Parts: sequence; structure tokens; C-alpha cells
Amino acid sequence: MRAGKLYHQAGHPALAERVGGWCRVDGNGMSGNKHIVVIGAGIVGVSAAIWLARAGLRVTLIDRNAPGQGTSFGNAGVLASCSVVPVTAPGLALKGPKLLLDPSFPLFLRWSYLPRLAPWLLRYLSHANDNDTRRISNGLTPIVSDSVEQHKALSQDTAASPYMVPSDYNFAYSDRVAFDADAYTWQLRQAAGFKPEIIEGEAVREYDPAFGPSVGLLAVMRDHGYITDPGGYVAALAETFKGMGGHFVTANVTDFDLGGGTVQAVVTDEGRFDCDNVVLCAGIWSKSLANKLGLNVPLESERGYHIVFKQPSAGPKAPAMVAAGKFVATPMDAGLRCAGIVEFGGLDAGPSKAPLRLLRQTVEETFPDLTYADSEEWLGHRPAPSDSLPLIGEIGQSGVYTAFGHHHIGLTGGPKTGRLVAGLVAGDRPNIDLSAYDPNRFH
Ligand SMILES: Cc1cc2nc3c(=O)[nH]c(=O)nc-3n(C[C@H](O)[C@H](O)[C@H](O)COP(=O)(O)OP(=O)(O)OC[C@H]3O[C@@H](n4cnc5c(N)ncnc54)[C@H](O)[C@@H]3O)c2cc1C
Repeated sequence: MRAGKLYHQAGHPALAERVGGWCRVDGNGMSGNKHIVVIGAGIVGVSAAIWLARAGLRVTLIDRNAPGQGTSFGNAGVLASCSVVPVTAPGLALKGPKLLLDPSFPLFLRWSYLPRLAPWLLRYLSHANDNDTRRISNGLTPIVSDSVEQHKALSQDTAASPYMVPSDYNFAYSDRVAFDADAYTWQLRQAAGFKPEIIEGEAVREYDPAFGPSVGLLAVMRDHGYITDPGGYVAALAETFKGMGGHFVTANVTDFDLGGGTVQAVVTDEGRFDCDNVVLCAGIWSKSLANKLGLNVPLESERGYHIVFKQPSAGPKAPAMVAAGKFVATPMDAGLRCAGIVEFGGLDAGPSKAPLRLLRQTVEETFPDLTYADSEEWLGHRPAPSDSLPLIGEIGQSGVYTAFGHHHIGLTGGPKTGRLVAGLVAGDRPNIDLSAYDPNRFH
């Protein structure tokens, strides 16, 4: 599935441009007087803020840090349009315990966190069946499948545009047997319109000499892309937002004023911000803020890591998902960034040693000629709802809209989500069914 119409009919030129029109539902055309507060300046928040401003609304974007310093800072940078398959593939519940005990498999758990994780984990694993995986895949497809077009629509003619590079996205396997073991995933990707080209044996090194002999098969996905510095990209988008007259405020959001049931103001350590609507885009930190609105979301951190190898002597020419290590190697401005791994252990604990050790080891095996001047490590928190679908919609009739829960695909799907939620706030009828993303679905 590729770019489709976001809203019905012809209407607002900004949201309608390139992807179809919209139908104004409130019909009053007074959106310019409304004041919207967007909480969180990650990729989702800046996307929402820009599309809201383009729709003519008054927008204040609030973050306690500089834009692009949360999870959006350290991801692998891939615009992974074909990432339509959740982690909870059929069989995970049975295989999971064995994989956790295998030190060479990139799935980790801080055991002391297990009692707190258990309720979420049980819900998460309950989706590891064929029916749910297909349903989740159908839900992810509209959010991610036209990612490159959505990033272009967001960033074109702005200082953020040069950060985006069109490229292949390659899946590196040891051999045909390992590729075939992923047949279920490839069948779902194919159902969503993504078919790989297969390169095998020595042809792998003709395509890209960076790969060592541990890579015997590449599944090449054409027409993808990546961001050469995800944190810099989000910061540049925030500057674009400010250039449009948007306000950015550095403040910690602590509460909401819900006088009469609908939001009146956002409360921060820098004071109150009166508003007509709120868009909550605080990534993994949205859980505690949503709680203050009575929404209890089963959201956990899927902790992930990156290592940036500076001044690398070798590296792939396009982002490569190394299947054995479940990490992506991406050529970025700062060097070769290798990012991935899943670790459960909550928000508070610092980085663990074992995942970083395994990441270094699989990088060495994949790129045996790699030397580098220096390296930098990072830990981040993918916001993972138990059913692997983002929350996009209004919390009850509170006037607060959610746009969070993008786990592994937030950079890919952030611009589309921002555009969708901006349309909802502006009172438009979406042209795609958003019920799968209903934030109230857990109640
Ligand atoms: C190792 C790793 C690799 C990844 N690779 C990819 C990839 O290649 N492609 C892809 O599509 N996705 C990838 N992801 C996932 C992606 O990075 C996330 O889904 C995405 O960044 C989430 O964006 P966000 O805007 O929702 O959250 P964030 O970027 O975390 O932004 C949330 C913001 O809210 C702010 N905030 C929180 N609480 C408050 C408060 N109380 N007051 C004020 N501000 C607050 C934070 O400071 C932060 O700036 C990866 C993730 C990891 C960890």
C-alpha cells in the first residue's frame, strides 16, 4: 500500500496537498483562533506541530529538553516503509523464554524488573498468534508504507530536507536457510506490497563490499530512505515550526486542567498554558501523563541501544538490518550507527553491559574490516503498547488527542501520524479508518 488520501474531498490546501483533500466537519472555518498545545518535541510532536500550524492553528510546542533529544535522537534512522510486522509474531510466547536465556540472541531482560513487567508482558504475548499479527500488520501498514512521501511532504523546502536520503533498505542473512526461516514475515510484507530482490553468495560483496563472509544473502528493498542525523533532523523541523510563527517552550508538563471535563490548560513547571486542545506526543513518557487524564495505557519501554563508530573505515552504503543481531547499520553524518536490540528493564535503570557487548560482537562479525577512531554508546526507550499499534485519537471527549506508542516505527510513521492527528484536531473527517488506533481501546 502506498500514499493514499488522508482526508475526504478538496479543502485545506496544506493537509490536502499531494495526498488528497479533506472535509471540514465543524464548518465554522475558525480554526485560526484555536490554541493547541503539543506536548513532546520528538519526531511525532514536531510533525504534528508543523501540520497544525500549516492548517492555520495557533500552536505551542512544549518539551522539557531541546527538540529531538528523546528516543527520536538515537534511532537507526531508517524510513522503514516495509516494517509492517510486529515483534509479537506467532510462536514468540513459546520461543521467548529460551531466547532470553541465549546470550547470543539480542533479546534481554533485567530480571529484577520482571514483577513490574509481567502484566504488560502477558498482554503483549497474547497477541503472538496469526490472527492478531495480521490485524496488527494491517494497522501498521497505513502509518508506515508511504513514509518517504510523508517525510518529503513534511520537510520539503525546509532546512530539514537535506537530512533525508533515498536509498535501498537491505536485510542481511547468513544464508538461504536463515532467510527462509523468516518466510512468515516476508509473506506479510509482500501482502502489504513490499517484495524484496534477493542477492546471494559473492554477489553480496559485488553489491556492497562492506559485508563480510557471515552475510550470504541480502534481501534488498528498493525505494526506502534514511535520515543522516535523526536528532539534527527533528531539531531542524522544530526550527521550521518556529519560522512559521509557532512557539517552542522549554518546560516540564506536570498536569492538565480539565475543568468541566474538557481540557482548559496544560500545567507545567513554567506555569499554565491555556488552550483549546492538546496533542500528547511524549513518547514513552506519555503513559504517566495519560494516567492523569484517566487513561491507563499498557505501555512499556522496549529498551534499545546504539553504538556510533566514528570515522569508520568500512560500512554499508545503505541501511542494513542484520537479521542475526537484530540491529540496523546505517551510514550517518557522525559515522556508522549500529542500532537495535530489545531489552526489557523499564525507564529508570541505566544501560546494561551484555546487550552492548553482543552488539559490538555482531558488528565485528558482519563488517570484519571495520576500524574506527572512537565510538559512542546510547540507550533509548521505544514506546511499546501491548498491542503494538500507536494511539491516535481523542481521549474520550477531553479535547486531548494522543499521538504516541510507535515502538520500532516512530521515525518512519511520525510524519503521517502528525498529519493525521492535526486533521483530527482541525475537525476533519479522515479518509482512512482510524479505529485501530483508538486510544480508548484498552478500557
Ligand atoms: C535503538 C532504536 C532504534 C530505532 N530505529 C528506528 C528506525 O530506524 N526507524 C524508525 O522508524 N524508528 C526507529 N526507532 C523507534 C523510534 O525512534 C521511536 O518510535 C520514535 O523516536 C518515538 O518518537 P516520539 O516522538 O513518539 O518520542 P520521543 O522522541 O521520545 O519524544 C518525546 C518527547 O517528549 C518529551 N517529554 C516527555 N515527557 C515530558 C514532559 N512531562 N514535559 C515535557 N516534555 C516531555 C521528551 O523530552 C521527548 O523529547 C528506534 C528506536 C530505538 C530505541
